[in-house]
Order: sequence, then C-alpha cells, then structure tokens
Amino acid sequence: MCNKHSEIQQNPSHFEGSAEEKVTAQHVQANFMDYIKDMKFFDPHIHMTSRTTDDYQALADAGVVAIIEPAFWLGQPRTGLATFKDYFSSLVGWERFRSSQFGIKHYCTIGLNSREANNEPLAEQVMEILPLYLYKEGVVGVGEIGFDDQTPAEEKYYRWQLDLAKEANLPVQVHTPHRDKRKGTERSMAIALEHGIAPNMVIIDHNNEETVKSVLDQGFYAAFTIYPFTKMGNERMVEIVKQYGSERIMINSAADWGISDPLAVAKTAALMKMKGISAHDIKMVTYQNAIDAFAQSGQINVEDFENNTVIDQSKTFNGNTILRGGQQPRIDKNAIVIR
Ligand SMILES: [Zn+2]
Repeated sequence: MCNKHSEIQQNPSHFEGSAEEKVTAQHVQANFMDYIKDMKFFDPHIHMTSRTTDDYQALADAGVVAIIEPAFWLGQPRTGLATFKDYFSSLVGWERFRSSQFGIKHYCTIGLNSREANNEPLAEQVMEILPLYLYKEGVVGVGEIGFDDQTPAEEKYYRWQLDLAKEANLPVQVHTPHRDKRKGTERSMAIALEHGIAPNMVIIDHNNEETVKSVLDQGFYAAFTIYPFTKMGNERMVEIVKQYGSERIMINSAADWGISDPLAVAKTAALMKMKGISAHDIKMVTYQNAIDAFAQSGQINVEDFENNTVIDQSKTFNGNTILRGGQQPRIDKNAIVIR
C-alpha cells in the first residue's frame, strides 16, 4: 500500500510526468481517422471498467476490434476479498458483455496487482481465489503483476503468481514501476527467468527508451503505454519503432480512471503512418504482436474478431442490458461501425 501522502495526492495510475513534460506533451491532430482507414487494432492493455459506453463506441469507430483488460487496482485500496471476487467476476462477465455490445472482443488477464500485494493479510486470501479465475474462458494471462514500490511483499506475490502462470501455461503481463523503472524492469525479468518462464511468455509493460533494448535483447515482449502528458508520448514511440523495428513490440493505451486516452493505439498508428512507418510495422505493433503473445494462452481465436463482428444490442447479460429506458437496440449483422 502507498502510505506516502505526496503519492496519494498524485495518485498515479501508470505514469507520472514532470511538469515540463506535461507542458510539452503533444497530441495527434484531430483528423487522425483519415490516416487509419481500413486498419484494425488490438489494444492489449485497457481498463474499460473505468470507461464509458462513449469510449466503447469511439474504440469501435477507430477500428479497435479486440482488447485485453488487465486486473489492477481501482485507485483506492480494496478492503476485503469480496470486492476482489466481484471485480474478477465482472472482468469475465459484465464487462465482456458490455464490450460485445459494441462489436469489440474482450479478453482479460487476472492477477493481484503490485500495490495491493502490500496488504499481506488480504493478498493471502486473493492468492487462494486466483486459480478459480485463471482457468476461465477468455483469460489470456496472469496480470498485471510485478513491482510498484519494489517491496519484499511485492516480490513475494510476484514470484507466487509467476508459478501460477507457469502451472497454467499462461503468458504473464508485467507492470513495471514508475520509480526506479530500469532497476524494477531488470528485476522483473531476472525473477521471471529464475522461475523458469520462457521470455516469450512474458510481456514487459510500460517500457521507455531506457528499458526497451534490454527487454528485447533478452527475448521478452516489450509493451509501450501511450499515456498523455507523461514520459511516453507517441512521437517518441515512432522513434522507437524506427530504431528497433516492430518485432516483439506492442502499443497499448492503458486507459483507466486517470487522465488517459482510449484511442492512443489508433492515434499512434495514424502518427506512424504520417511519419512514414511501413504498413507492415504498424500492423505488427498495433495488432499482430499482441495477438501472437497472448494467443499462447490458447484462449484467442482470431476468427472472433478478424472479420466483421455481429452486434446485437437486444441481447442481455443475466437479464441486464446496456440500453436504458426507451432506447432502441442497434442490431447489425455485418459492420462494426454503425451510424
Ligand atoms: Zn494497467
């Protein structure tokens, strides 16, 4: 748990940028959609539980056909096991349904996040129920797990979950810390190797220029979170792809309850196109590599989203619908985008 008052005030979700970075961060032009016609995207890290139906619609309109929602913390610490249970259940239940209503295939990763690993009495209980969720349909990995403050408790539960992943033969989605990122990233990789996990089964997330070379050199997947006003804007992402190519690199939005952009993957694809990155490389980093990495779970069937998805908003989930009083369901058998 984060006890330091200053950190609570900042309450960073995935990244925190300096004041200067916040001022200089730039956005892609509003007409980014012109550059990505006919492209499709897979966002392997987005917390839709925190987002609205408008966001789902915008994702669908931008060509995002599938997403992965990692289990993480909710901005404030949970006080009991029941809220973890309900959260995990929603990731494989209601949220998946909600996503389907916009033609987006929803997968998730399940795990005990690093922050809440520091509440050991609760962490022990969460570890007991994780296997109940890890083997469910559509669960494509253990995640997001790893280090936050790099405490002994975080290490203990990271190691424990690596063993669960190994046993279940699931990929691991590793959250790397904001503070001491380089050290935390190296430790995360060393520990995974120590537990006998093949590097190609590990997706190291939230990389930057400092960490990418070592991650790729050691054979891991390198994920990059494009987060507004932070240390990894998408102009720098373009430079990374120019330098390192597209092999084992993937981009995500990590959109959550903080200031973030669910369209970060689509906008970065547009920027790459504008800056002359090849169509092949764009497809690899915004779609194919994420599929290849997480399909190792055996839980991804590309036919579920590769071609046009059927949308039927007259469907219900346990009797509930995303429609509100008087709204007409949108039913379309051919197109993702419906106006
Ligand atoms: Zn996250």
